Amino acid sequence: MKIFNVVRHFNYFQAMIILLQAGYLLAEPLPGVVILTTGGTIASKYSVERGAVIPQLTGSELVKAVPQLADIASIKVIEHVNLDSSHMTPEIWAGISLKVDKILQREDIKGVVVTHGTDTIAEGAYFLELTLKSNKPVVFVGAMRGALVPSADGPSNILDAVRQVCSSEAKGWPVTVTMNHHIHAANRVVKVHTHNVQAFNSGKKGCLGYISMGKVERYNNRSSEFKLPVPKVLPRVELLKTFAGDDGSLLRSAVDSGAKGIVIEGVGAGNVNPSVADAIDYAMQKQVIVVLCTAVHSGGVIPVYGEAGGGAILARKGVIMGGDLPGEKARILLMLAIPETRGNVNEIQKYFLI
Ligand code: ASP
Repeated sequence: MKIFNVVRHFNYFQAMIILLQAGYLLAEPLPGVVILTTGGTIASKYSVERGAVIPQLTGSELVKAVPQLADIASIKVIEHVNLDSSHMTPEIWAGISLKVDKILQREDIKGVVVTHGTDTIAEGAYFLELTLKSNKPVVFVGAMRGALVPSADGPSNILDAVRQVCSSEAKGWPVTVTMNHHIHAANRVVKVHTHNVQAFNSGKKGCLGYISMGKVERYNNRSSEFKLPVPKVLPRVELLKTFAGDDGSLLRSAVDSGAKGIVIEGVGAGNVNPSVADAIDYAMQKQVIVVLCTAVHSGGVIPVYGEAGGGAILARKGVIMGGDLPGEKARILLMLAIPETRGNVNEIQKYFLI
C-alpha cells in the first residue's frame, strides 16, 4: 500500500523510474564475461593503404557491433594483440593462457571469450586447453568474413560464444572453438575450408554441441584429461610433412639448426621412405625427440608396416606415435611435454595415447 501513497505524489513518469530502479536493484546481476581480442578476420576491414583486408577493429568496436550482449552479460573487453593469426606464436598463446587464468580467478567472471584469427585458432585453443588451470568456460571464436561486409559472421559468433559461457548446458567442456553455431573441442577441431562460414570440423567423434537459435544443445561430454604447465621457455619444435621422393634433407637441417623436437606428418597410416628413416635416426642420435603423425585427415597413425620407414619399424626405434592428433596440434603438445618431462620419451608417449 505504502508504495502507492508515494506514487500519488509523483507524476506517472517519475513513478515508472522508481519502479524500474527497484526492479534493477532486485534483479540478479548479469554474469561477468571477458572478451579478450587478438585480431583475425573478425576484426578485419579493407585497408586502402594495403589494398587488402587487415585486422583493424578495436575490441570495443567488436563488442559494439553486438548490442544484444548487454542483455546477457556484463562484458569487459581486453585487447591483447591485433594480428592476423598467421602471425601468432606459441609465446603469444603462452601469454594469453597466463592472462586468462588470472582473469578466471576473479569471482565476478564467469568465463572468457577469445577472439582469434581462424588460420591458427585450432592451435591456439589447443594450447590453452592444455595449459589453463581454471575449469571455467573459455570459448575461442573467429569469423570467416570481414567485420564490415553485409553478411559478417563475427557478431553472431561472438553472441553465441557469450551465450555458451553463460549457459549451464556448457558446463565441464574443455576450451572450445565455437563457429557457425557448432561447438568444437579444441583437441579435435580442424579448419577444413578457406572461406566458407562452415569452415571447421571435429572429425568422426563429432562436435560437443550446437547453438540452436541462441540455445546451447549438448551432444557430447568431454573434459580435458590432463594439463601441462606453461614453461618459462618453449623449446623449438619443427613440423615437417613428408612426400614421395623426400630425401630427408629438411629433417636433417631442422636437427642441425637446433630443434629439440620434430613432428613428422607421414604418409598413409604413418610411414616415411628409407631416406627420411635415416634422417630420423640422425635426429634421434642427437637426442632430438621425433613424433610421427599422419597427413591423412582421419584414422590416425597405425604402426603396421614393416618396410624401412614403415610405422611399425619407427615405433620400435622409439619414435613417438602421434595417434590421431594433426601435426600442428602434436607440435603444441610436444612443445609443452618436452619441458615437463625433461625430454623423457616414454613419458611423452603417454600424453599422445590419452
Ligand atoms: N587470415 C585470417 C586470420 O587467421 C583468417 C581468419 O581470421 O579467418 O587471422
